[in-house]
Amino acid sequence: MNVLIVFAHPDPRSLNAALRDEAVRELEANGHEVRISDLYRMEWKATVDHDDFPDLPSGGRLRVAQASREAFAAGSLTADVAGEIEKLRWADTVILQFPLWWFSMPAILKGWIERVYACGFAYGVGEHSDRRWGDRYGEGNLAGRRAMLVVTAGGWESHYGERGINGPIEDLLFPITHGMLHYPGFEVLPAFVAYRVDRMDEAGFRRTASDLRARMRALAETPPIPYRHQNGGDYLIPSMELRPGLEADGDRGIRMHLDRSRG
Ligand code: FAD
Repeated sequence: MNVLIVFAHPDPRSLNAALRDEAVRELEANGHEVRISDLYRMEWKATVDHDDFPDLPSGGRLRVAQASREAFAAGSLTADVAGEIEKLRWADTVILQFPLWWFSMPAILKGWIERVYACGFAYGVGEHSDRRWGDRYGEGNLAGRRAMLVVTAGGWESHYGERGINGPIEDLLFPITHGMLHYPGFEVLPAFVAYRVDRMDEAGFRRTASDLRARMRALAETPPIPYRHQNGGDYLIPSMELRPGLEADGDRGIRMHLDRSRG
């Protein structure tokens, strides 16, 4: 398998970097090919602006989606963005690895998504009409690929449990797993989350690294989160509401988008 790791931590001696190296060693030992986008090392530009669209007349208004669509179609995206799109096309599995910062990903990784997910590539794909709302959520250019988050968090596991004060981790990560990964087509595996990491000792590291290596070995077989596919008949078009009665008993909000019959 071809595995792309998009890595967002500023320090090469960090816990995150050590865990990434463990994952890479395990993947390579199992015959997978690995490429890494180490965003801080690459000095990744995290903001979308005029400089992303060299073909735009200078001083003209920047309509981001339109400029992105035109640049993607014309092959005039900047080299850094085009390079990352090429890596996404190469990868069978994409891993986003980051420390949880303010209940989400570091800004540099959000900026990678914003710039690399060009219009016509990751969104704005497929027919948009009153019969079909594009190829999204399980369909699209990244369909058939797998994706997974590897996250470290300072908080305890119980803080992120069903009754935890921070909210359940699956809900906090939903904008990423569902909105950024399932949306352009990925099947998304359950996240690997290491909790309470800030004072992790050597024994804790060995345990965490061993758990992560096991997840890397199981990458191809791990069942994905059973997010519903947009065009599988579960949603009304064009309101995009879940058809009444499909949710499992007690499921509300985000949870309704899980198809419990798939596990
Ligand atoms: P590091 O600081 O590099 O290391 C953590 C510990 O692991 C250290 O004690 C280190 O000694 C130890 N360690 C053990 N073995 C090794 C090894 N082999 N290599 C390297 N280190 C090792 N947490 C939350 O839960 N929710 C939040 O919303 C949140 N927001 C944050 C926002 C900001 C701006 C910041 C700075 C932190 C936030 N945190 C939050 C905490 C954050 O998630 C953790 O600090 C982070 O996950 C730790 O990962 P790291 O790679 O930076 O760890």
